[in-house]
Amino acid sequence: MVHDTQLALVVPCNNEQEMLPTTIEQLSAVLLRLIDSGTIGGGSILFIDDGSTDNTWRIIASHAAESDMISGIKLSHNVGHQNALWAGLEQAVAMKFDAAISIDADLQDDISVIDEMLAAFHEGNDIVFGVRDNRNSDSFIKHFTAHSFYKFMASIGGEIIYNHGDFRLMSLRAMKALMQFPERNMFVRGMVKSIGFPYKCVYYARKERTAGTSKYPLAKMINFAFDGITSFSVKPLRFITIIGLILIVISTLLIIYGLYRYITNSTIEGWTSLMVSLWFIGGAILTCLGIIGEYIGRIYSEVKQRPRYIIEEQTGKNKESK
Ligand code: UDP
Ligand code: MG
Repeated sequence: MVHDTQLALVVPCNNEQEMLPTTIEQLSAVLLRLIDSGTIGGGSILFIDDGSTDNTWRIIASHAAESDMISGIKLSHNVGHQNALWAGLEQAVAMKFDAAISIDADLQDDISVIDEMLAAFHEGNDIVFGVRDNRNSDSFIKHFTAHSFYKFMASIGGEIIYNHGDFRLMSLRAMKALMQFPERNMFVRGMVKSIGFPYKCVYYARKERTAGTSKYPLAKMINFAFDGITSFSVKPLRFITIIGLILIVISTLLIIYGLYRYITNSTIEGWTSLMVSLWFIGGAILTCLGIIGEYIGRIYSEVKQRPRYIIEEQTGKNKESK
């Protein structure tokens, strides 16, 4: 069946000069094949340069000058993957694409499932999640931390699809719905799930990065995990209250015991248990303050409502949409 869907491929890039030439070649080939087979009516690749310090923007600009299938947005500084992705989706909405597929510049996600994604979209699904069915290409640490994170998110009630990254298709309607979320502390994959439109999952094996290095060092990953947890659940705060209540019960028992020892005149010993509990309570208090701090810090960044990103330059067709 022939469709006239206009498809955008949204690709956030941060220092991806080693990878980009291959990515551009492969994604262009995909679009041309889809157009030829009548799966889509037309398409475009939208690169978002997230404050790269290498040749990324020059590569995007030179390709955009040659092909009207490619356009780019240069953000004024590095705002992180989630914000860069948001910039791309906003652009796709502004350009009125019927659907957009977000994909990492390193093409670790299998572009051959794009056909399946489009089929699911044409069946009437607004969102199609790409889901990794193995993590063989990840290091043990990454595998372990990611697995624990998804499990933890599920246990605290975060809306998240297990093993879904940011490789997904969204309809124009779904993108517009997403744009109504005002928060700055973003965990896009969870927000998309909570839109509530019909969705489907397609499965693929995630490949290894073929060029360049991961732009997600441990510190960024930890930050990302905290964003995910705090943006979807206040359960950690509830957890603090419960610990506090348990400690009050324990200390009441200890007071009774202490009074009993006092009355029976045997109070000197017990230094060890006192020291141990002192350290424990100190640690517990600091942890709890830290968790509250995580939320307060995020409330602070929400009330400021600073722009998610600032566009410095644009190239290609998208210029006309502004
Ligand atoms: N990225 C970005 N801004 C950042 C970090 C990463 O736009 O601050 C992009 C990066 O270029 C890539 C995608 O986000 O297209 C995912 O990053 P990466 O592949 O390094 O993460 P990993 O696959 O190792 O989790
Ligand atoms: Mg990657």
